[in-house]
Formats: sequence, C-alpha cells, structure tokens
Amino acid sequence: MRPVVIGVLAVQGDFAEHAAMLRRADPDVVVREVRTPADLKDLDGLIVPGGESTTIGKLLVAYGLEHPIRHAAEAGMPVWGTCAGMILLAREIVGGEPDGRIGLMDLTVQRNAFGRQVDSFEVDLSFVGLDRPIHAVFIRAPLVQRLGPAAEPLAVLDDGRVVAARQGNLLATAFHPELTPDTRLHAWFVQLCRNRSSDPAVVTLTARAAGD
Ligand code: GLN
Repeated sequence: MRPVVIGVLAVQGDFAEHAAMLRRADPDVVVREVRTPADLKDLDGLIVPGGESTTIGKLLVAYGLEHPIRHAAEAGMPVWGTCAGMILLAREIVGGEPDGRIGLMDLTVQRNAFGRQVDSFEVDLSFVGLDRPIHAVFIRAPLVQRLGPAAEPLAVLDDGRVVAARQGNLLATAFHPELTPDTRLHAWFVQLCRNRSSDPAVVTLTARAAGD
C-alpha cells in the first residue's frame, strides 16, 4: 500500500508545527511542504496553517497555487485550514479580504473576531466525534459568523459561537491544534486523507451538530 502523502502549505505561518504534528500523529505519513503547483501532485490532503491570511493569500497568487488548490479541493482532496487557513477556506470574509484564497466553504468568517494579539486565549472545547475536550489555543482568531447549509459545526464556544466546521472534505478550525501536545485532530485528518485515498465512503467521524 502506498503511504498517505499530506501537504502543508509552507509559504508563511506555522507550517513546521503542523508538519511535526502530522509526523507525531502517524509516523507512516509522508509530509510534504507545498510551495509550488508541482508540490500538489498526488497529494492525499493539505493543511493550510495559521499565520497572516493577507500574506498567505498574496503568496497563493504569486506562486500560482490559488487555482490548483481550489481545483484539487473541489475534486475531493481533504483540506484543513487552521486560523488564517480557515479564513482562506471561507466563501465570505469580514474584516479584510485577502487577494487570493480558496473560498470554498459556505461560511462567513470574521477576521480578528476576538480583538488583537493581547486578546488571544485558551479554552477546553468539546469537539464533535472526540470523547474528551481538546485544549484550544486562539491567537488573533477568526470566528464563524454565518454557517451556510452545506457546512456543519464541529465545535462551539460556551456562548454558542462556532469555531470549527466541516463541509464534506473541507475542515476549518479557528484555533491552533498544532500548538498543543494533543495529536487527535491531526490523527483524524490523516484518517480522512487515508480513507479518501482508498474508499471515500468510509469516513468515520460523523459531523453532527455540536450538542446532539
Ligand atoms: N489574524 C490572522 C488573520 O487575519 C490570523 C491569525 C492566526 O492565524 N493565528 O489572518
């Protein structure tokens, strides 16, 4: 069986932390840093890391990555965006639209929804499909302001605001799972990518409305 190959967009932001987490979550995964369209060849999945969505968006255009990533995602490749990556996955953005983006999730995402750097915070969060809460680190994080019918919430704050969502093969988290020792979300993403590369029908984590 060929190994699962997962890309991490490596133009800006904390891609190295995601790559390290993927390797820790599953030592059999081949992790590839993605900087050019050629790096997308035969990928089973892609992580778009946190960082600065304006900068990452500019570089997506400059390196000719915007359209090839969108096409691969439309063709079913799992893509997981964290923080700035969530912004780049959203169809609508409030608070400054990056030049380039993937724009496929039926979400309206508000940038810097919790204020500035000093308003970064951490909280334990229930996540659909996980038996125990995860420790979520929010850094100048975005928030899902509107969740379209195609998307499902995976995690909400105590006040009901949505901070993680799924739309088929697309995942978005407003926080940074790569900055804690907990590898469960990376392991789940690897599983999504592996299942998709063998049998797309076998995706184990059912996305239900949080609280169901
Ligand atoms: N505030 C950043 C933006 O708007 C995202 C921050 C992050 O990725 N930690 O792009």
